[in-house]
Amino acid sequence: MSALRDYHMHTCFCDGKSDMESMVVSAVEKGLECVGIAVHSYTWFDESYCISRENIPRFISLAGEMKEKYAERIRVFCGVEQDIYSEESTEGFDYVIGSVHYLKIADRFLPVDEDAPTQRSIIREVFDGDAMGMVRSYFDTVGEVYERTHCDIVGHFDLVTKFIEKDPAFDTASDGYLRSWKEAADRLLPSKALFEINTGAISRGYRSGPYPSEDIISYLSGQGAGLILSSDAHSPDDIAYGFGTYGHLATAEFDPSAKH
Ligand SMILES: [Zn+2]
Ligand SMILES: [Zn+2]
Repeated sequence: MSALRDYHMHTCFCDGKSDMESMVVSAVEKGLECVGIAVHSYTWFDESYCISRENIPRFISLAGEMKEKYAERIRVFCGVEQDIYSEESTEGFDYVIGSVHYLKIADRFLPVDEDAPTQRSIIREVFDGDAMGMVRSYFDTVGEVYERTHCDIVGHFDLVTKFIEKDPAFDTASDGYLRSWKEAADRLLPSKALFEINTGAISRGYRSGPYPSEDIISYLSGQGAGLILSSDAHSPDDIAYGFGTYGHLATAEFDPSAKH
């Protein structure tokens, strides 16, 4: 792996634990060449984890201050993790991570990654116990993430498996599961959006490996997709988490200043 770059991390503008400058300073200390501070886009249907609408200009201008202040030591970028159902513009941000955090069923927005009991109750109550139905609904939505967000990076492609190791609610070795994710991958591949190899569920103790799973990573790289590492860090210590271990899986580098 070449120079260290991490474009997926959060601050207390959304659900992160630290302020922006502490994240930048930690990235400098860890020897990163580029750091991207991302914020969860505003979602009107769930304000518990995202930036408030009023704070969006402040986030962008503070990132601008960080760019200047640390210009000699690190390149700072300002990103947004755009939820597929967010209605906010992504203008003003250097790059976009497109992510699916909810299933939209009728008029309800159901969280994919809240916790295992919530996922179980969605399967039971909304999908009549059909776990694979929930999985299909998730990957159908992921398949649309580029069209809807015009993202540079597809966020945590198989987030639906966040709890699978501790609470296996469905079988990831089944044909149904394979078909679901392949369809989503095949819809996204022509966009040339990068896929992230996200180590955030490892650092937070949910999974023993990154998103996406090994199978998906090898399919994506076999199809020529660009894969980059990201930490989804919510605290300074977790920046670039596991990059030494998983660096060999990356197939691309991202530079928001060189965007088409
Ligand atoms: Zn996310
Ligand atoms: Zn994130």
